[in-house]
Amino acid sequence: MTTDEQPQRLVLMNPGPVVTDDRVRSALSGPDMCHRERDFAALMTRVRSKVTRIAGGGADHAAVVLTGSGTSAVEAAIVSAVPADGGLLVLDNGHYGHRLHEIATPYGIRSRRLEFGWGTPLDLGGVERALRDDPRLTHVGVVHHETSTGMLNDVAAVAALAHRHGREVVVDAVSSVGCEPLSLERDGIDWLAGSANKCLEGAPGLSFVCARRDAFVALATGPRRTHYLDLHRHFTAQEKAGAPAFTPAVPAFHAFDIALDLALAEGVAGRRARYAALAGRLREGLARLGLRLLLPAGQRAVGLTAVRLPDEVGFEALHSALRAEGFVIYAAQEQLAQGFFRLSTMGQLTGDDIERFLATLARLLPRLTAAPAAGTTGAVR
Ligand SMILES: *Cc1c(COP(=O)(O)O)cnc(C)c1O
Repeated sequence: MTTDEQPQRLVLMNPGPVVTDDRVRSALSGPDMCHRERDFAALMTRVRSKVTRIAGGGADHAAVVLTGSGTSAVEAAIVSAVPADGGLLVLDNGHYGHRLHEIATPYGIRSRRLEFGWGTPLDLGGVERALRDDPRLTHVGVVHHETSTGMLNDVAAVAALAHRHGREVVVDAVSSVGCEPLSLERDGIDWLAGSANKCLEGAPGLSFVCARRDAFVALATGPRRTHYLDLHRHFTAQEKAGAPAFTPAVPAFHAFDIALDLALAEGVAGRRARYAALAGRLREGLARLGLRLLLPAGQRAVGLTAVRLPDEVGFEALHSALRAEGFVIYAAQEQLAQGFFRLSTMGQLTGDDIERFLATLARLLPRLTAAPAAGTTGAVR
């Protein structure tokens, strides 16, 4: 099969958008709707309430759903939550941690970046010292699953520490919400940003921020740094007027509605167990092939595995060989780009997909090490 002929079912091992359930994909062709009519209001309200539930919110919590990718939700949370005289302590142990700082900076938000190093667990002692040193750092920004390395950060511990010091946490849970245990209520997460198309297995195009209802209301007195991503505007529109502030991606809402039903039926623990089983099979198989993983076992999220590229095999050659067999693998970023690649186990993958992937990889690797392919078609990074 060549790369021009689309295989029947492409096995997406990139960390979102993921392979979706047929029912989710079919829902994309749901009815045309005007977003200022009652039918859409009901759909939006259902979606908001299911999102709040899957994120572990109680009656005091709410969700604002945005039309935009995960980054729009993270950006909305940061620029709306940090007050004019406040600041953000960014916990950086990978690409997405660093991104929190890059999001804050152009808005003139004071941001202090605590750099731990890629794939290095957060040091809570260092976080505590930074908070003691600078009382104007009112918020702590942290990534739950750092998708650049596959590391799961202990966000519950960060939240507990921040609260002991009277600070709030802004959590990028884009690649973890729905499959890793993190709860607005139990873990006291102040601001949680997520997206529809990773572990929640919806279509791309929607993201969301969850927080306490009164926290959204209190944004009325905060700085208005942005028009489009102003969470107070979105909350007021969605909660009070029952209509979104701007034109939403209606088909993505139809799909998310169904995806959330499936996520709630499976439960976060069930989905975590399913992904863990896939990741376990994958990691064992990679080890059998002599491939080494970036992180030790105790630090890995279930949704992603960062793998060292075998000697003499470039990512582009590996990618195009696997793509031709119906598997999409994902490049590593920045400092890991040369030596590593990433395999996601999020979405509707099956044990059979993983076994076929491993068998295909076993068949391709000797060829790739023997004759590194030249001029292969590559993925856009
Ligand atoms: C995917 C991802 C994002 C958002 O990426 P988008 O391309 O904007 O959807 C943010 N943070 C993390 C940790 C991610 O994995």
